[in-house]
Amino acid sequence: MVNKPPLIWLNVMIFSLSFGLAAFVAPWYGWQFGYSWEHLFWLVVCFSFCNLSITVGYHRLWSHKAFEAHWLVRLLCALGGAFALQNSALHWASDHRVHHKFVDQNDKDPYSAKRGFWYSHIGWMLRHYNQATYADYTNCRDLQKDKIVMWQHKYYLPLAVTMNIGVPLLLGWWYQDIIGMLLVIGAVRLVLNHHTTFFINSLAHIWGKQPYTDKNTARDNGILAFFTFGEGYHNYHHIFENDYRNGIHWWHYDPTKWVIKVCSWLGLAKKLRVAPALKIETARAEMRLKYAKKILSQQLQHQRIFTHIQQEFDGFVETLHDYYDLKKQLLESKANSAIQSYERSILTIRYRQVKMRLQEKKQRWQLLTKPYAY
Ligand SMILES: [Zn+2]
Ligand SMILES: [Zn+2]
Repeated sequence: MVNKPPLIWLNVMIFSLSFGLAAFVAPWYGWQFGYSWEHLFWLVVCFSFCNLSITVGYHRLWSHKAFEAHWLVRLLCALGGAFALQNSALHWASDHRVHHKFVDQNDKDPYSAKRGFWYSHIGWMLRHYNQATYADYTNCRDLQKDKIVMWQHKYYLPLAVTMNIGVPLLLGWWYQDIIGMLLVIGAVRLVLNHHTTFFINSLAHIWGKQPYTDKNTARDNGILAFFTFGEGYHNYHHIFENDYRNGIHWWHYDPTKWVIKVCSWLGLAKKLRVAPALKIETARAEMRLKYAKKILSQQLQHQRIFTHIQQEFDGFVETLHDYYDLKKQLLESKANSAIQSYERSILTIRYRQVKMRLQEKKQRWQLLTKPYAY
């Protein structure tokens, strides 16, 4: 038998106790005494507050610096993160940065998906696997300058206890059902928070499509996005990690992105980072080319078709470059008053022509590679 590191008993206790209470005691209590709409309402509010604190704050703000946030947003995320009971923001971000840097490397990625579902979901927190580097925050020097991050890190334990016991107690006292609120807002909410977040490390590296990269196990999955406030577009996220969006299209379900955007309208967030559209489209086209090549290589007489696909790819990518180059020039010309209006008009005409050409090429490319797309 392989020697495993010793168990972290505190984590084992927290996970099993909360699961036992949520899965067995809470339904029994509901059956005996009933729950009201207040229980459900506050369950949804607290669950959303906790998960968004993790996705907006711990993940996109602190781990990836995808935007800058007002102290009020940072304070709320620090409180919600402690409520979600996922360690301090500093610790979480440090682990997460290592995960991105060494993704899938079993000896370095703290929750490597290549060590299996159980390990990447929860197993990595049950034993002292990363004891040697546990308190090494050298990859988060920037966060050590954030007073709210350091305050939360220092007082994480009292904050976590206050939020996890204090909030359900307060609601229980208000609605005259202390045990019911402790079970629903304490245990059920915590278990839902834990496992929906953990799905990102486990399922989002196993189940779904890889439209942007196959250099790591991360997947895009709309169903997971629904349960994780938009974090299910994990394949995109692993290639463009500093983008404040994970779901880049308007039809993508990404409430975390919407919250950040609304915060920016309210003056509570700024410097929202997005990956260059040229890079995004090129990555996608390259993956389609790769899939086509993979499938065609298994067929006889494939060379002629593949040569055609390669030519279309080259033409499409070249037009993509032309289009984004002209778009940039046009934007710059609008900002530069020294440029004559007729020069700008010529640029506009060329831009429109290339835009039309791009649309045609894109349509043809998508049609041609559709049979081979993931
Ligand atoms: Zn990941
Ligand atoms: Zn990330």
